[in-house]
Amino acid sequence: MIHAYAVHEPKGILKPFEYDPGELKPDEVEIDVYYCGICHSDLSIIDNEWGLSQYPVVPGHEVVGRIHHMGDQVEGLAIGQYVGLGWHAGYCNECASCRAGDHNLCATAQATIVGHHGGFADKVRAAANSVIPIPDGIDLESAGPLFCGGVTVFNPLVQFGVKPTDKVAVIGIGGLGHMALKFLNAWGCEVTAFTSSATKKAEALSLGAHHALNSRDQNEIAAAARSFDFIISTVNAKLDWNLYLGTLKPRGRLHFVGAVLAPLDLNVFSLIGAQLTVSGSPVGSPATIRKMLDFANRHGIRPQIEKFLFEDVNLAIERLRSGEARYRIVLCHY
Ligand code: NAP
Ligand code: ZN
Repeated sequence: MIHAYAVHEPKGILKPFEYDPGELKPDEVEIDVYYCGICHSDLSIIDNEWGLSQYPVVPGHEVVGRIHHMGDQVEGLAIGQYVGLGWHAGYCNECASCRAGDHNLCATAQATIVGHHGGFADKVRAAANSVIPIPDGIDLESAGPLFCGGVTVFNPLVQFGVKPTDKVAVIGIGGLGHMALKFLNAWGCEVTAFTSSATKKAEALSLGAHHALNSRDQNEIAAAARSFDFIISTVNAKLDWNLYLGTLKPRGRLHFVGAVLAPLDLNVFSLIGAQLTVSGSPVGSPATIRKMLDFANRHGIRPQIEKFLFEDVNLAIERLRSGEARYRIVLCHY
């Protein structure tokens, strides 16, 4: 049996939950969970904010642990090895995206916490090719957040060829945003943080931003007109996107990784006039996750975490809801 924490209805409290995972499939591994980060997407699935939750939900998709058990077709992994598991726990392996190495774009990829039980548990299972070895030198306690939040903000740098000479802004300095500041600073960019929190303005500078502005102050945003080559939005709330379009240089890109439910109401003339691009992206492929781990290791990039015990998971969820977490909460056993 696997001992987990589950919610049974939208916005429910997490309660101890046991389930029998059945026989291990030949291409699966079972991981002993040591640490599990909490992403805002866990909250959105707990609350059924996106209309795709399947209860009981066992959240948790920023897992760090050790391989406890492996199916007999698994290659390239070893019992006892430290590994991470992120948003995806399996891929079809046959579609054009999977064959091209873009497993993260697979239309039938298995989400770790939708129709599958995640990492708020003593063990979790996943297809072997969604499980990534953790290189020596990576701090295990803080590594979990790299596997969803971290790779989600790293992936656009690779996908869109962000250059060290670029001026890049990050909107929303939470779990994803604070890691974006660290990655972009190490990438060599001039980095601007947009935050709605007065106290985070100063903190953003210590996280790697060179400048910090108020994400909800029209005057501060307008004063940054034609400044940025690239903007990554990590917020899950509607902002004045047309004001942000005005802060892009010609040929600039406004890129969404934060899940805003409200449709975009963009001024097409701004797009036309400055030849702008608006885009979005999910987490990264297994290959990009490996690349991100190497980069983080080389540059000493670690998520800034707050630790909570697994048994205090409901307190941890409340802390994330409060918006006060600095900057990613990680569940641990001690
Ligand atoms: P988080 O830690 O809660 O951070 C979100 C940040 O957004 C907050 O810290 C806050 O930053 C800002 N924000 C929130 N409400 C705001 C408002 N009303 N006005 C202005 N700013 C606001 O969440 P997270 O874990 O980083 O996740 C962020 C989003 O990314 C979520 O929607 C999540 O579901 C999504 N996500 C997407 C992917 C993907 O594959 N694309 C992967 C992971 C997560 P300030 O305090 O600095 O203002
Ligand atoms: Zn996530």
